Amino acid sequence: MAQKKIVVQKYGGTSVGTSEKIQNVAGRIKGYVDRGYSVVVVVSAMGKTTDQLVALSREITANPSSREMDMLLSTGEQVSISLLAMALHEIGIDAISYTGSQIRVITDGNFSNAKIESISTDRIKQSLDGNKVVIVAGFQGIDADENITTLGRGGSDTSAVALAAVLGTRDCEIYTDVDGVFTADPRLVQNTMKLKEISYEEMLELARLGAGVLHSRSVEFSKKYNIRLHVRSSYNNEPGTIVMPKEEMMEKFVISGVTSKMDEAKITIRDIPDRPGVAARLFGLLGEHKIYVNMIIQSTGRDNKASISFTVMKNNLAKAVELCNGLMEELGASAIDTKEDIAIVSAVGVGMISSYGVAGKIFNVLSEHGINIEMISTSEIGISCVIDGMYAELAVKVIHKEFLEGDKYVC
Ligand code: ASP
Ligand code: MG
Repeated sequence: MAQKKIVVQKYGGTSVGTSEKIQNVAGRIKGYVDRGYSVVVVVSAMGKTTDQLVALSREITANPSSREMDMLLSTGEQVSISLLAMALHEIGIDAISYTGSQIRVITDGNFSNAKIESISTDRIKQSLDGNKVVIVAGFQGIDADENITTLGRGGSDTSAVALAAVLGTRDCEIYTDVDGVFTADPRLVQNTMKLKEISYEEMLELARLGAGVLHSRSVEFSKKYNIRLHVRSSYNNEPGTIVMPKEEMMEKFVISGVTSKMDEAKITIRDIPDRPGVAARLFGLLGEHKIYVNMIIQSTGRDNKASISFTVMKNNLAKAVELCNGLMEELGASAIDTKEDIAIVSAVGVGMISSYGVAGKIFNVLSEHGINIEMISTSEIGISCVIDGMYAELAVKVIHKEFLEGDKYVC
């Protein structure tokens, strides 16, 4: 018998948020079965279930054991897989649900942020050979000691991609409540465009810079195993956005996404003697305390004194300031200021690698609108500016307008 084509589909929490939505998903799966596909489905927990489980644990303790937390959170997916199997049975489709442990999704033992090490395909293949739709609980696995682990919030995307990889299919569909990946947040900007294609690199950069549509590790995995991730809506049949190798893209924009991020704060330490070891001491200490530092700039002023500004997550600000205060005397610095109301506005695009003048154009549109740039950082495919928080929306709009509305910058 000719091998049927396998498709892996993942349905997010909102797509299976009610029994009616589960029935809709079942109908969509039936469509694929009728067209001759072998379907492997990964589902998240229904709606806000995972958040509710977290809240429940908080009613009992502020310090839950990490093992028990994963045991608790993994239950959400068990509800949705079984209900989806029943919904398929109701419309005459043979289907079977499996938890992570039942198909041997083996992870490391890092509770709440475990990494998948291997998945056995035996049981899945047997079920597919028996013409069953296979439904797998996303987000969960087991460690070497058979403890239940979870992959980090939003981790079902990664479960789906890992399954596509071990099953040897390049096609993985991620069904969600948006139509795909847009050039900017459609709630902020009017004339956004749905991208037909985007590269792994841009997707990872967008996630890092605040526009997280997918679990980052799922994109890294897709890149490693050359999987085409189709992000699309479970509410319609429109094609969404395919995340793919940049070499395979038909159309590349100089900038394909503009984002803003408001969850960081800026710290500036002034008048630090400009000598070797200062930055090493400061950032070494922050690192020891697991404080994630994003942007850093150092500027030299008069009399061999420098000032260093950097950004940290707002929820780490108090701790970071405390650590810096403890260092002021040792470093010989004069003052420390903080600013919480900042936005990091970024433009991302693989086309930047081969275009020039992009940074200049971005700075220019910002200045034309009276927006002051407080810090700048660049990567191969991204440019980020720290600006005053009150201009976040305007900055995204004007950069988007310059590069992605009217005459687009294509390369
Ligand atoms: N249910 C889990 C969460 O909410 C996993 C997922 O949605 O992918 O984080
Ligand atoms: Mg989710």
